[in-house]
Amino acid sequence: MNSRPIRTYRHVRDVPQLSEAEVERLSAVEAKYAFRANSYYLNLIDWDNPEDPLRRLILPTMSELNMEGDLDASRETDYTVARGLQHKYSDTALMLVAETCDSYCRYCFRKRLTMRRSDEIAVDPTEALTYIREHQEVRNVLLTGGDPLTLATGKLERILAALSEMEHLKGIRIGSKILAFRPQRVLDDPSLLEMLRRHSRPDRRLYLIAHFTHPHELTVEAREAVRLVKQAGCEIMNQTPLIRGVNDRSDILQELLLQLTAAGVHPYYLFVGRPTRGNRTFLVPIVEAWQILMEASNGLPGLARTVRLAMSHHTGKLEITGVDHDFIYLRYHRAADPHNRGRHLVCQRDDRAVWLDELHEVHPRPSLRDYHEPARAPAKRIPMRLDRLGYSAEPKTREN
Ligand code: SF4
Repeated sequence: MNSRPIRTYRHVRDVPQLSEAEVERLSAVEAKYAFRANSYYLNLIDWDNPEDPLRRLILPTMSELNMEGDLDASRETDYTVARGLQHKYSDTALMLVAETCDSYCRYCFRKRLTMRRSDEIAVDPTEALTYIREHQEVRNVLLTGGDPLTLATGKLERILAALSEMEHLKGIRIGSKILAFRPQRVLDDPSLLEMLRRHSRPDRRLYLIAHFTHPHELTVEAREAVRLVKQAGCEIMNQTPLIRGVNDRSDILQELLLQLTAAGVHPYYLFVGRPTRGNRTFLVPIVEAWQILMEASNGLPGLARTVRLAMSHHTGKLEITGVDHDFIYLRYHRAADPHNRGRHLVCQRDDRAVWLDELHEVHPRPSLRDYHEPARAPAKRIPMRLDRLGYSAEPKTREN
């Protein structure tokens, strides 16, 4: 393992591997969207390869200056009910406890939080904790941000201790990319592991939702950090978006899923990227994402095939359950509007579509007989009923 001290870089001009010309070019992007990286992660890059996937993940690219898209593509602010607390599904609350991450993914869907001082973060978690305490229907809490594991161990402990006392909570998860960005956070702080051990009880395990995006992130250090976190009694699941130029190849995705499973990290979600402003360059269309996953799954053992292709849309979390010659099939895995819970959608296949808003739902749904009799009139196609999906010009109301 590499024991050199790790440096944090907050400006591209500090990255020793970049030429002056590159710094000058990329500074224009940095001026818009914050940059942060560390020497451990930068050393995983093959600097002779301009297409290196981790380079693309961490270094600005000029195409981020494309202004298409919304800064809050999933309209998270609609579900913010207290400072730093989102409550979209009745049984689950998201606590945004950290302002920053150890390093910044260029494709981050919450880059708005780093662009200005944000009141979406529970810098003081009191209000958020009070809300959760008073809402007994909340059964699960996800700590997120930013990256909760960038907080001082003592601060994270105070939040976990308060949550641990709430017996109506049945699940506490921590979403973090620290195992990929800086596994030394785990390796070098025994008090962090002790704290995780204290709060991961046999009747309520702590779950770490890791964010490994590419197999090159699963270094010796990262695997050791995974081992220690599991030894501290936590379960580890992985979720990552499918990112153009990073992991959008079936062989790379297959390797990632295999290595994760071998390390004891359960593949959980593979997300299609959100059309956040500045992220157009990273998006992979839904159909292509499905094909990549299907190809990657070929020959994978069952445990590595547990991953679901999903979309975190404003109206809920949809699983993409299939694509055929004519249609894209989706199902609401979670829905903000109870009417959409578990609902299946059959949408006209569109190979360029990256997001639900770009799809057209087919209605009425064709029967199998229709499908096998091409001579019949095609199923009537109408635009998706946006009102049924919870779209409205009016402010969003939650289900509870
Ligand atoms: S770790 Fe998550 S929150 Fe942080 S920059 Fe990456 S995607 Fe965004």
